[in-house]
Amino acid sequence: MNNLTGKKALITGGNSGIGYATAKELKALGAEVIITGRRKDAVEKAASDLGVIGLVADQSQITAIEGLASEVGTIFGKIDILFINAGVVEQSSIADATEKSFDNIFGVNFKGAYFTLSKFIPLLNDGGSVVFLSSNTAHMDGANSSIYSSSKAALNSVMRIAAVELAPRQIRVNSVSPGPIATEIMNKIGLSGEQLAGINQWLIGRIPLGKIGKSEDVAKMVTFFCGDAATYITGAEIVMDGGMSLKA
Ligand code: NAP
Repeated sequence: MNNLTGKKALITGGNSGIGYATAKELKALGAEVIITGRRKDAVEKAASDLGVIGLVADQSQITAIEGLASEVGTIFGKIDILFINAGVVEQSSIADATEKSFDNIFGVNFKGAYFTLSKFIPLLNDGGSVVFLSSNTAHMDGANSSIYSSSKAALNSVMRIAAVELAPRQIRVNSVSPGPIATEIMNKIGLSGEQLAGINQWLIGRIPLGKIGKSEDVAKMVTFFCGDAATYITGAEIVMDGGMSLKA
């Protein structure tokens, strides 16, 4: 049993999907948890359903990240677990890409994730664990995903360098890179139910294990990285995608 009793955890983007499932898992393992998100109502509802603390903070705004660090410091003092999970997806070809879409994706997924780590380093206890939520697309070459995929590839690079920089304090930094997981993320890009069902069928045909993953699967891997079984693991990335990125 992965016992995290007494550990204090911050999860960005915890009001739905993978962040929500990880908050539930961390709490079940004994941790005290703060979740964040942008939508106040969704953050409050999720926090109440989970029995954790919810704070509104936009990961794309440095001042909001600084404000969050200050609030978390007031509530928890220090933290042991930092799960940098909040992210957005948009699709377009390179030919059709817009600056707005580029800034949105890189602003949340890369710049926001980067400065969340940067601003929370002083709050991390020695021996703590940082986990980035990356994506298997960081290693894939699918059309229309250039901005999203490169934002996640950049995150993996920062993860490895952070692992080196924070090693003297025994703080471990790792990434989890899922393939398709059933969450709200794809509902947020304006596709119809029929289009989403079509995409899911297309994806399933490309996944050797023949299924879309669950948020709970990812949550278990994130909490593995936070526990005793991973005390000698840093700078690592686990791809969990049902084999989708294998060159079968
Ligand atoms: P989700 O259900 O849409 O959750 C995304 C979370 O991020 C929400 O809580 C959302 O809150 C929050 N968020 C988005 N932008 C934010 C911002 N600027 N500031 C603060 N919070 C923000 O989707 P998910 O699938 O669980 O996504 C979680 C992570 O997994 C993302 O980094 C995503 O790229 C990654 N991922 C997902 C999949 C997949 O297939 N689902 C696969 C690989 C990687 P609000 O709605 O309130 O903004």
